[in-house]
Amino acid sequence: MSGDCIFCKIINREIPADIIFENDDVLAFRDLNPVASTHALIIPKKHIGTINDINPEDAELVGKLYLAAAEIAAVEGIAEQGYRVVMNCNKAAGQTVFHIHLHLLGGSEMGWPPWPAA
Ligand code: AMP
Repeated sequence: MSGDCIFCKIINREIPADIIFENDDVLAFRDLNPVASTHALIIPKKHIGTINDINPEDAELVGKLYLAAAEIAAVEGIAEQGYRVVMNCNKAAGQTVFHIHLHLLGGSEMGWPPWPAA
């Protein structure tokens, strides 16, 4: 738990969210500003700020984020057509909330790469 972290506050039910998945280690909820028809955020209940802060002992926990992504994708009905999971790290990648989270995006065709060519 980090005191001023909004995702920790969602875990502790101090601020509301549209929660769609929960187990002992992982929580998922719909993004407040969705950019796809399915846009969920999948977070560990342990506060980890960025990918750079993941320790070897967190490896199983990070794997559980992906297991949750696949489970949610199945429930959302997008598992077979396909979906994308993205984790931004730090400012240049657009990270704005410093509690690691997978974005689960789906429900439409997506281009690749998702950024303009250099
Ligand atoms: P990132 O830019 O990768 O750090 O992603 C942060 C995401 O969190 C953004 O897509 C925001 O729309 C989303 N977000 C921020 N606050 C909330 C909230 N209270 N509930 C749900 N999603 C949120």
